Amino acid sequence: MSILVVGSVAFDDLKTPSENATDVVGGAATYFALSAAHFTDVNIVAVVGDDFGEEHRKVFKGRSVDLAGLERAKGKTFRWGGEYSADLTERTTLFTELGVFESFQPVLPEHYKSSDLVFLANIHPSLQVDVMKQVQNPSLIGADTMNYWIERTPDELSAMLEGIDVLVINDEEARQLSGVHNLVEAAAKIREMGPKTLVIKRGEYGVLCFREGERFATVSFPLDTVIDPTGAGDSFAGGFMGYLATHKEPGDKEVRQAIVFGSVLGSFCVEALGTRRLEQLSRDEVHERYQAFKDLTDFASL
Ligand code: AMP
Repeated sequence: MSILVVGSVAFDDLKTPSENATDVVGGAATYFALSAAHFTDVNIVAVVGDDFGEEHRKVFKGRSVDLAGLERAKGKTFRWGGEYSADLTERTTLFTELGVFESFQPVLPEHYKSSDLVFLANIHPSLQVDVMKQVQNPSLIGADTMNYWIERTPDELSAMLEGIDVLVINDEEARQLSGVHNLVEAAAKIREMGPKTLVIKRGEYGVLCFREGERFATVSFPLDTVIDPTGAGDSFAGGFMGYLATHKEPGDKEVRQAIVFGSVLGSFCVEALGTRRLEQLSRDEVHERYQAFKDLTDFASL
């Protein structure tokens, strides 16, 4: 089953303790697509400026990512700069320049409208709703959001939440959205807002998932080297949704497995700067690490 993703395709400036880079292709939709494409065909809906050339599109080369919905508009591509603390636990946004994103009106190419799954990456909730309305009959809709929209566009955000099946956010966002600190209580409140499944990303501490009568928790994969956390959350979402797309009616078991595949993709993402590691990643490596994850967390069948 195919997946449609709407979100940013960007130029990022990254400052990490070990490496810096400017103008690297990033954006939530980019990380998502590179990760989800290990499982299924991905249709991207996004906008870039006329400074985004053929050499930049190469980031998707060799992956089953359809770029028909990657609109090229007059103006500058969305730009974002981030700097990490020495221990990589904190990130400061240095700048955000919306560029062509400011007047973006997503219009789906005809063949995108029958996409089976939809992921609304972190953009203005009204745009997320717009895209949701244009897809004919998706079997599952997932979404992300951030503090900016929680604070500034609560009504639009509520409309978006009412229409989705799965919300994938981090712990800070879950607390902010629900107004409570305890994540179990926060999850109950958020699930009442619409999404029947809530996935809470907790960075290096792993992931929590809440569904009807079901809770699941996992760790994040322990790595020898972490270079750049940028895009880890979007890569998680890509692996998670990508795996779900390989099942017609995913139940609790498949959702658990999808969370582990998401964690696997997130773990590869952080091993190198920007999308570098994801661009080289093979399907065999994905499955090997999934197996390693199973061994790592098994305490019952030894
Ligand atoms: P993450 O590390 O998962 O938060 O994602 C980082 C990516 O999100 C970067 O590649 C940025 O280009 C992109 N990004 C940062 N801020 C925004 C924003 N306000 N809207 C859309 N994308 C953003």
